Amino acid sequence: MTEGNLLILHAAQLLSCSGFAARKGREMADIGLIEDGAVAISGGIITHTGSSREVLAQVNENDYVSIDARGKTLLPGFVDSHTHFVFGGYREEEFAWRLRGDSYMSIMERGGGILSTMQATRAAGLDELVESAGARLDELFGMGVTTVEGKSGYGLDRETELKQLRVMEKLNARHPIDIVPTFLGAHALPPEYQGRPEAYLDYLITCVLPVVREEGLAEFCDVFCEKAVFSPAQSERLLRAAATFGLRPKLHADEISPSFGGAELAAKLQAVSADHLLQTSGEGIRRLAASDTIATLLPLTAFSLGEPFARGREMIDAGCAVALASDLNPGSCFSASIPLLFALACIYMKLTPEEAVIALTINGAAAVGRAGSIGSIDVGKKADLILLRFPSYRFLPYHTGMNSVACVIKDGTVYRP
Ligand SMILES: [Zn+2]
Repeated sequence: MTEGNLLILHAAQLLSCSGFAARKGREMADIGLIEDGAVAISGGIITHTGSSREVLAQVNENDYVSIDARGKTLLPGFVDSHTHFVFGGYREEEFAWRLRGDSYMSIMERGGGILSTMQATRAAGLDELVESAGARLDELFGMGVTTVEGKSGYGLDRETELKQLRVMEKLNARHPIDIVPTFLGAHALPPEYQGRPEAYLDYLITCVLPVVREEGLAEFCDVFCEKAVFSPAQSERLLRAAATFGLRPKLHADEISPSFGGAELAAKLQAVSADHLLQTSGEGIRRLAASDTIATLLPLTAFSLGEPFARGREMIDAGCAVALASDLNPGSCFSASIPLLFALACIYMKLTPEEAVIALTINGAAAVGRAGSIGSIDVGKKADLILLRFPSYRFLPYHTGMNSVACVIKDGTVYRP
């Protein structure tokens, strides 16, 4: 046996989700199912895959630690491509107010909303944030998430935005999950800039983005493109400026206001993803389908808010590349339940189980710019895998809201929840 060599044999089903780019429309139905599947791993990288017979013909079993995956399903690790997992404080009171029917505006007036989290995040120390965010990563990891995107956006000032990004940098070095950091300084207008969105954007562009770039703290720039937050023109200005600092664009698009043009802007800017899309117009869906921008849907948020779900079925039928993500955050969605997300996507957004698997693996990877290295079981990719304790991926929506993950393999190392 050679150190770091792992052989997984006899999986009842192996889903390769094979590919190095997002899958669009009908291509999302093809999960690359292999019965009695196997994977050989060396140095954290997939070196062989196929049926157990094919793989055993190519490797010497004695060189490996073997896992017998009989009765289990083997698939790529999940990629959660939209979260806000670094934050201070909680907003459980606000959730109760919403259940009572209080409006978003009345909650804001009582000091709720993003600005309440902003205050708690500004007040929190770096170590405190590392600890609370690390605990959230542990939960995600146990549900099979091997790569997670995380956003800043609860500082709304230079010091705290950078603090949030540094928390992610620290956790990336010490936690098995890979973290993809996104700068979301334009998540809301801070009190210091009320009524002056252009001045706030100037501040982000001249005072914050240069440091983000200098310290290599983020890969993407995101913006909350929404009525009374940032207009499409303002969002475009920020994202174009961020691109000159090497940050690729993402958008919170069409979440609340109907036909606000977020999806259209994302397609125009060739954004990596347009996220939420609850209120996207038919034209917006057509533009996304014609572009390489991924439509990232967040059903846990719609569920938590009691809002109608995004039209996932229609988007896939129109030819979009759809990804699914949790949107874990302390306000609109304090959940990263991948099992519940999977069920909601199938039951309410009418994705097939196959499409939901693709949306959480290769398409999630593409939504964080990593389809070349993760998101599928392909030779040369990182050995980020999940074993389900059931013999079919169909248990993912069927075992509703329950965690079916038996173990997670990250960079070739086996972890049991
Ligand atoms: Zn979000």
